[in-house]
Amino acid sequence: MDARIAWLNGEYVPLAEAKVSAQDRGFLFADGIYEVTAVLDGRLVESPAHLSRLRRSAAALDIALPIDGAEIEAVERELIARNGLREGGIYLQLTRGAGERDFLSEPDHPTLLLFTQARDVVANPAAESGVAVMTMPDIRWKRRDIKSVMLLAQVLAKRAAREAGAQEAWLVEEGYVTEGASSTALIVTQGGTLVTRPNSDAILPGCTRIGALAAAEKMGLPIAERLFTVEEALAAREAMLTSASNFVLPIVRIDGHPIGDGHPGPIARELRRLYIEAARAG
Ligand code: PLP
Repeated sequence: MDARIAWLNGEYVPLAEAKVSAQDRGFLFADGIYEVTAVLDGRLVESPAHLSRLRRSAAALDIALPIDGAEIEAVERELIARNGLREGGIYLQLTRGAGERDFLSEPDHPTLLLFTQARDVVANPAAESGVAVMTMPDIRWKRRDIKSVMLLAQVLAKRAAREAGAQEAWLVEEGYVTEGASSTALIVTQGGTLVTRPNSDAILPGCTRIGALAAAEKMGLPIAERLFTVEEALAAREAMLTSASNFVLPIVRIDGHPIGDGHPGPIARELRRLYIEAARAG
């Protein structure tokens, strides 16, 4: 039995007993958004960036956050304490609430749910082995900057990637990599430049991306925020992904082709080390 304590609409409840209406618009219409904030050493990582993205997503859907800023952080800290969470993440979901199944129903209250997920983020074996990715068409909608719970395209992409023996899908539009199904995509060119797509409606602005780029600056790496093709990625010296669930992870294969020498590269390793160091320092 899952002993976790969750927070649902103002109350701490056992996660196994946390119930949302069958008429919730998150369930019926995917009319909602979410956030995942990493927890390291029992502390929130990059919390201001996640809160600001949460506000942006909520505003895009015109859903008022029932609690905000310091209040959300207080709930998150209480969940960390009550669940004895040292490492992993906090999942937060906000929907427009429960109402008659009508496209335009306006429920009285939004639904806000938070729960914890324990995971070894630092001692992740994938950091040593590197991960494989598979490219596939990006079939998502055009407002990918909103962290929508409408994740069917990502679920299908990840299932196809798993089928092909890969751990992540890289989504491709007009020949250019947009991002991973649940991560930001980065490469290091043969010339040693770290390349990642600039933020726009085409991708989710990654919070981990911010810290990773700061670490790259600290390393003195040239950084180019521009589009890159699958061909360029295949010819890259290194490739990597960033996300709150994984921090920085080296990518060692794309569509079955080894990247660099097929082992995690020194730049990805150093960015990961620096990212974790900065996260620990708070
Ligand atoms: N892009 C997509 C589509 C994602 O789902 C995620 C994370 O879930 C990211 C990028 C990385 O964002 P973050 O670093 O804030 O976790």
